[in-house]
Amino acid sequence: MAAIRESTEQRIELPSYLSRDTLGPWGTFLQQVETVTPWLDPALHPWIETLRRPKRILIVDVPIKRDNGVIVHYEGYRVQHNLSRGPGKGGIRYHPSVTLAEVMALSAWMSIKNAVVNVPYGGAKGGIRVDPKRLSQNELERLTRRYTSEINVLIGPDKDIPAPDLNTNEQVMAWMMDTYSMNQGRTSPGVVTGKPVSLGGSLGRADATGRGVFIVARSVARKHSVPIEDARVVVQGFGNVGEAAARIFSENNAKVIAVQDDSGTVYNERGLDVGALRRFRQNAGTLLGFPGGERLDNESFWELPCDFLIPAAMEGQISAARAAKIKARFVVEGANGPTVPEADRILQDHDVTVVPDVLANAGGVTVSYFEWVQDISSFFWTEAEINMRLERILTEAFEAVWQVAEQKKLALRTAAYVVACHRVLAARAQRGLYP
Ligand code: NAD
Repeated sequence: MAAIRESTEQRIELPSYLSRDTLGPWGTFLQQVETVTPWLDPALHPWIETLRRPKRILIVDVPIKRDNGVIVHYEGYRVQHNLSRGPGKGGIRYHPSVTLAEVMALSAWMSIKNAVVNVPYGGAKGGIRVDPKRLSQNELERLTRRYTSEINVLIGPDKDIPAPDLNTNEQVMAWMMDTYSMNQGRTSPGVVTGKPVSLGGSLGRADATGRGVFIVARSVARKHSVPIEDARVVVQGFGNVGEAAARIFSENNAKVIAVQDDSGTVYNERGLDVGALRRFRQNAGTLLGFPGGERLDNESFWELPCDFLIPAAMEGQISAARAAKIKARFVVEGANGPTVPEADRILQDHDVTVVPDVLANAGGVTVSYFEWVQDISSFFWTEAEINMRLERILTEAFEAVWQVAEQKKLALRTAAYVVACHRVLAARAQRGLYP
């Protein structure tokens, strides 16, 4: 008996590179798996181990010749966390702090996000530990093409489909698509998403994440009978996600009373003119000095009484100290990981409803999915069709999460993980174990 137990324990012990104690973001993911396990169908428990072990990890050496002739080596990664529901999907990050543990965690969170919105993808993520700001445009292109060739063994329109993430953009995706296509001997637009529209990118992609934030915010507000009209909205981050979310709230007659970015905070009790603010930011390079509002100090931003607080800048912004001050009814996470776990508990105690990132910002990956479908079928949709389908998918995803939250009396974040883990594990169980 003891021998059996011992061998069982040995089987479930994780290799050291997967250990929770040593690996920050990956440890966070393992903790999340532990949190949801009691809420999962016991019939799926035998498969949970697959969530704790990425399916494939590829570490690649990426040498490039700098413009001055010197050869420099960078370390790159592509991790496929789980492919039970379909090909891998997830972005490519260029940043000096990229580590294997971070890419593993990000790939796992893509498994969750893709399953929450029920798009037929597994989770993957890639990155290179590099400071792209120190590279010329030509060096960046060489880096991207070499990295793409190195991960060529894993990617493909029906295998694993990268997309932009931190410090990568549609130009990087164009280079990746071209490199892959050159290696294949045919043009293959479906290998990456987030491409320029001229190369098979999708209409509506630029606004998709911000639009998704609005769609799920409206869904949660309806559940609480809170109208969008005249709702008070504060937004941190005025980039891709934050600007689009602020604009779409404003188009729907909500009042965006404060916006904060890395230049500072502007505030107007009667509502900011978001279009004018965007033009001002483009010209002045800062929010400060905007004639349609007044300056507010950055910490007071978190204390503003409002209906919706939209963190759409970067991770970890809602600390425990800030959570204690927040006077919002809803926090809708446009950014990835903006709320630290302790803050999450404080918000819950204060009856602030948090719509988690894996649902709230999934509009981006949903329209990426549309891009892939359009590329594969070589038939392109209008922006109105895209927005209509986005709305349907996100509304259904929200409803599924809401139902679980209500039935099991869970926070929306835990409910979203329950929905997602259930879908991933059910697919895994139905496929069975090969051989
Ligand atoms: P972005 O670079 O376009 O914009 C980031 C914004 O945050 C900028 O306005 C910047 O000024 C602001 N900012 C940075 N540091 C700040 C600070 N310390 N205080 C206040 N503001 C600060 O980035 P983005 O694409 O809008 O992404 C924002 C977040 O949303 C990230 O967490 C990203 O991972 C997440 N996200 C983005 C997408 C997408 O489609 N772009 C999809 C899903 C999730």
